[in-house]
Amino acid sequence: RPGQDSFETLCLFFCLLPCFTPVAVSSWTGAAPRQVLRSVFGYDTFRLAQQPIIERTVRGDSTLVVMPTGGGKSLCYQIPALIREGVGIVISPLVALMQDQVAALQQVGVRAACLHAGQPHAERQALCQRLRQNTLDLLYVAPERVTTDSFAHLLDHAPIALFAIDEVHCMSQWGHDFRPDYLTLTDLRTRFPDVPLIGATATADTDTQADLLERLHLDDDALFVTGFDRPNIQYTVTRKSRPKRQLKQFIETRHAGEAGIVYCRTRKKVEGTAEWLGEHGIRAVPYHAGLSDAMRSDHQQRFLQDDGLVVVATVAFGMGIDKPDVRFVAHLDPPSTLEAYYQETGRAGRDGRPADAWMTYRYGDIVRLHQFLDRSDANDAHTWAQRHKLNALFGYCETTDCRRQVLLRYFGEEAPEPCGNCDTCLHPVDTWDGTVAAQKVLSCIARTGQRFGAGHVTDVLLGRNTEKIRRHGHTELSTYDIGDELNKQGWKSVIRQLVAARFLEVDVSGYGALKLTSACKPVLQGEATVELRKDTKRTGSEGSSSGSASSAAPDLPDTPEARSLFEALRRTRTELAKAQGVPPYVV
Ligand code: ADP
Ligand code: MG
Repeated sequence: RPGQDSFETLCLFFCLLPCFTPVAVSSWTGAAPRQVLRSVFGYDTFRLAQQPIIERTVRGDSTLVVMPTGGGKSLCYQIPALIREGVGIVISPLVALMQDQVAALQQVGVRAACLHAGQPHAERQALCQRLRQNTLDLLYVAPERVTTDSFAHLLDHAPIALFAIDEVHCMSQWGHDFRPDYLTLTDLRTRFPDVPLIGATATADTDTQADLLERLHLDDDALFVTGFDRPNIQYTVTRKSRPKRQLKQFIETRHAGEAGIVYCRTRKKVEGTAEWLGEHGIRAVPYHAGLSDAMRSDHQQRFLQDDGLVVVATVAFGMGIDKPDVRFVAHLDPPSTLEAYYQETGRAGRDGRPADAWMTYRYGDIVRLHQFLDRSDANDAHTWAQRHKLNALFGYCETTDCRRQVLLRYFGEEAPEPCGNCDTCLHPVDTWDGTVAAQKVLSCIARTGQRFGAGHVTDVLLGRNTEKIRRHGHTELSTYDIGDELNKQGWKSVIRQLVAARFLEVDVSGYGALKLTSACKPVLQGEATVELRKDTKRTGSEGSSSGSASSAAPDLPDTPEARSLFEALRRTRTELAKAQGVPPYVV
């Protein structure tokens, strides 16, 4: 590839250029952080937790920084690297990103360089020389290079100001992008115990954070999580009934003529939805990886320039899109993790003006995502983590609490008071004591062998006489009508909420069978109560209600039949457990 050589020569040139500057000691050694912020970077004030993080690092303490993209993580290590004696080593996974950062730093007079695979020997030599002369402020390195002998040798030549590990979530199998290369970086803490280390990431839920703290031998007080709240975004989740019509109503009532992104799971649905919106008077273009390059870039350009165009897209759309006036992000299908949801909805309202994050979903979507996960991978730690993240998303969908609080808590950020600006705050959901209903569902699932999905379980509860019930010999169970206090929708809602609250698990075997979790024990034994949301029918704007299309609130008439069957179920639990070889609370 002829272009490659000249490109590399150019890179070499730029990397070596600062070698010829005569300064041997950074002029900022020992300076105050604020002064460096102003003089070098030209900003007046620190953002979020930048100042305490920088102060800790200058002191020599290590830190785990979790801030959303664009939050300002780079300054957290760049400034201390200038202030502390020696070179700051920044480990970053993408060569292109490293080169961007190095170029930006050089522009403001910082002596920065990068070292990556495929670099010519001469260039490495030059870097070595600069390290020896202590004339580098920051050195960017790819993770796979850090643990090589030659790099260790390089590090022996110069005092090290700090280590910064960007995208540090790659170090954890709980993270969404685990990279084995990153694992060996944990050695840095033991090899250089006196050098402060900063791990930085935009995506780490509380489990990932805990794992990272452990791997990096850090205490809880080394963790800084800030900046996740997007106060101008109004979060809404609505039950999916006729998704395209619901979407149309949402757009027409809240964002007529404004720019927005609509996410769908499949390419086919993307195209169908874009076309349908067009036919119904909403200007929309599709975007997915299956379209030609020309069409993709055309649609993206139009979206960026037009302030009233809707782009209907798969997850392929959004990375690096910086359009400040996106007024809404709508999900016709839920993404597969709460992190992804946060990331995607974060594209709304970058200008700080009011914006909407709106989602429509149904229980079947979550089941399908579980099945998808199961097919996609072995039952390894990664799949386990993904499943956990999917459950978090489901919990968010089904919550009766402030959605903003659920999101912030997921990232471990101190949650404020209920926000007053999400659907659950604006239209507080009524709750009812669903303990008995939960016990019935759990018992019914246990008695049918934990082999069936929500549909069949509901049929049994309702005393239906379906072919499936006859075939599996559940007619006896079914004839009692133990669940006639609720209709089909009502039971589905109870089941959904029990899954969301982790009393039930959707089986991984691919058929969506419901299984009891250990959390059921106190409920079945009558030691814990279960608060459930009343799914009430709402009139008016469907877009702003949380439980828009479900049954009326049940009040539980204690029919004698229901009671007796229920009692029978409880009595035989121990017996059944013995037969099935499981702990009593499972049946
Ligand atoms: P992150 O790595 O967290 O995604 P960056 O460090 O790249 O974010 O910062 C995002 C942008 O914010 C950059 O343009 C940066 O210059 C700017 N920025 C960072 N800190 C401040 C600050 N204190 N004041 C003003 N702008 C800042
Ligand atoms: Mg960054």
